[in-house]
Amino acid sequence: MRLGVMGGTFDPIHHGHLVAASEAQSLFGLDEVVFVPTGEPWQKQGRDVAPAEHRYLMTVVATASNPRFTVSRVDIDRDGPTYTIDTLRDLHAQRPDDELFFITGADALAQILSWKDSDELFDLARFIGVTRPGYELSESGLPADRVDLQEVPAMAISSTDCRERVARGEPVWYLVPDGVVQYISKHHLYSSPTATPSSAP
Ligand code: ATP
Ligand code: MG
Repeated sequence: MRLGVMGGTFDPIHHGHLVAASEAQSLFGLDEVVFVPTGEPWQKQGRDVAPAEHRYLMTVVATASNPRFTVSRVDIDRDGPTYTIDTLRDLHAQRPDDELFFITGADALAQILSWKDSDELFDLARFIGVTRPGYELSESGLPADRVDLQEVPAMAISSTDCRERVARGEPVWYLVPDGVVQYISKHHLYSSPTATPSSAP
């Protein structure tokens, strides 16, 4: 099987992630794309990240309707900070016959060489770098035979912007799937009590 791997903090998952995964699935003939929410993201230490269980469940809600999308707990069930090398090693151990394609936006692709054990990353997976508004997509310094660049429809959406909108009492409808809007509201994620609009119950 050709298995796409979409890693992310997904705090929250939004339509930029979903379009990137869907385009990679279709253009690279992937049989399945597994979304892997991070445990503790090592790049994001110092900021509060929503509990892993909430990020996992929002990812399940967002992907449930697509028969080719699945969600893995490998990173959230591993203790300590999440490194992509561990994600790929675990997935490879679980599914040794699958060919892995790690899908990443232009911002993350540019940082791969700074990731732990970056040379081994390219032995375990091929990388699909997708365009993301505001970032330059380039494979410079990366092994050309293991990295493909792919333009995808531009979605100028980030989880940071979604969190800030919720904190300001602004809508995130249509930036994230409807079920995720409702999940955020049900569990009071991202809003401090002072930012709650006065009309809220
Ligand atoms: P944050 O603002 O918290 O960093 P984010 O929107 O960047 O959140 P991540 O969970 O950090 O989302 O990203 C996971 C992966 O999805 C990364 O490879 C990132 O480059 C990619 N990605 C995120 N948003 C987009 C987008 N709008 N278009 C294309 N790729 C994206
Ligand atoms: Mg990010």
